[in-house]
Amino acid sequence: MKDILTKSALELADLLAAGTITSVELTQACLDRIEALNPKINAFLHVDREGALATAADVDARRAAGEKLHRLAGVPIALKDNMVVRGMPTTCASKILQGWLPPYDATITVKIRQAGLPIVGKTNMDEFAMGSSTEHSAFGPTLNPWDTARIPGGSGGGSAAAVAAFMVPLALGSDTGGSIRQPGSVTGTVGAKPTYGAVSRYGLVAMASSLDQIGPVTRTVADAAALTELIGGHDPADSTSLNEPVPPLVEAARAVAEKGAIEGLRVGVVKELSGEGYAPDVLAAFNETVEKLRDAGADIVEVSCPSFDYALAAYYLIMPAEVSSNLARFDGIRYGIRVEPTQGPVTAQRVMAATREAGFGDEVKRRIILGTHVLSAGFFDAYYGSAQKVRTLIQRDFARVFEDVDVLVSPTAPTTAFKFGDKIDDPMAMYLNDIATIPANLAGVPAMSVPNAVSDEGLPVGFQIIAPAHGDQRMYEVAQLVETLSDDVVSQCPAAQWDEKSAQAGEVQEEK
Ligand code: GLN
Repeated sequence: MKDILTKSALELADLLAAGTITSVELTQACLDRIEALNPKINAFLHVDREGALATAADVDARRAAGEKLHRLAGVPIALKDNMVVRGMPTTCASKILQGWLPPYDATITVKIRQAGLPIVGKTNMDEFAMGSSTEHSAFGPTLNPWDTARIPGGSGGGSAAAVAAFMVPLALGSDTGGSIRQPGSVTGTVGAKPTYGAVSRYGLVAMASSLDQIGPVTRTVADAAALTELIGGHDPADSTSLNEPVPPLVEAARAVAEKGAIEGLRVGVVKELSGEGYAPDVLAAFNETVEKLRDAGADIVEVSCPSFDYALAAYYLIMPAEVSSNLARFDGIRYGIRVEPTQGPVTAQRVMAATREAGFGDEVKRRIILGTHVLSAGFFDAYYGSAQKVRTLIQRDFARVFEDVDVLVSPTAPTTAFKFGDKIDDPMAMYLNDIATIPANLAGVPAMSVPNAVSDEGLPVGFQIIAPAHGDQRMYEVAQLVETLSDDVVSQCPAAQWDEKSAQAGEVQEEK
């Protein structure tokens, strides 16, 4: 593998600025690696070689002409396939959107284009972001670069695997219940869900609008900070967008990296998110990191958030309710495929039914049915109404504990990466992967996962940091501290040893 592929985005930015490398060289190296590894890993659903190289050449020319460029100009990025880029396929890993070309750019896309980051392609995911393993993709699962017999997490497994396998230094994900953080945890990458409203959702295909949030997928905390600074900020096109400036996250993270400590830091260990149900290797890694934080001077206290015990149940009522409403737009008339009934009259309703029957996968259908049921007149109060009350209780739990601590910490996911097929037939077992990530979505607070250890089995473990709403800067500071205090996880990924030539010959490390 070329040396530049292992560098962080900010290191690459420095090399580009210094003229040591060009964006065309870098983008070419990423594209070559994607081409070599993707047939095996399936992290990308679409690769835009021409478009990416054109952007790279343009940035190189502007740099050569002395133009002042964005810090990340020329650094390649991949987008999860639920974010629209004009003219580039966006499928949400669903058959229903096959062949659809978006007529507009998402706000994040506009910002990325303006800053001059070559978009190398769109990454695989669970269909419409529903799942924790990418096994619900209509186009086959993504394999975990740490062990190709294992899942890369979900729903954003494609972005996480692409970054972990050194195919691209930066990617974006979307997090409705953990789809950035849980893939981060099981692939040894950094993933952050900003405060709700901090990043525009305009042009993100909606799953559950009150929970969805776009965020960065990277190999370092500082890279995630830099990418968030790029994509964040107010957007009049998104009515839930916050009207406040993006904090100086990179600067804040760098100051902590230098110092190796945060003065007066108070850390709350959430009792409900770190005991029963968490694998011993995950808990051992978690406790070790907590001890390192203590040694670095942090004040560690145990806090209790009793309502978190009901978070998963509340999420699986609120999320499907919003899903059933958001996915009503896929009707065979406005987007994607159109299937006509094989017999009988071709009425609008029958076309919609036939299209949705053929276009949606089982998990999507399950959630639409569940959501329609909980919103129905007879059950609304009992299910949706109660879930909203639980949501309020969870928000109150957060508000109460954040009076005494700056951040909360927990393992990101209850286990390391599991094997393909282990949970696919048991929706409840699949849903439990998000037990630790869901509370942050229900409350709209920022949360992120930082790789903090490699288990005895050789699999990465993630450490979650949750901050109060608008406390993203504090979250990044603590994340940087965790990264500084932990061993380097990302370089231990077996993909670091894969080279493009042997991969092309089909010799990528086989299943363990
Ligand atoms: N795994 C969760 C789910 O299936 C979270 C999905 C997400 O964050 N998009 O709903």
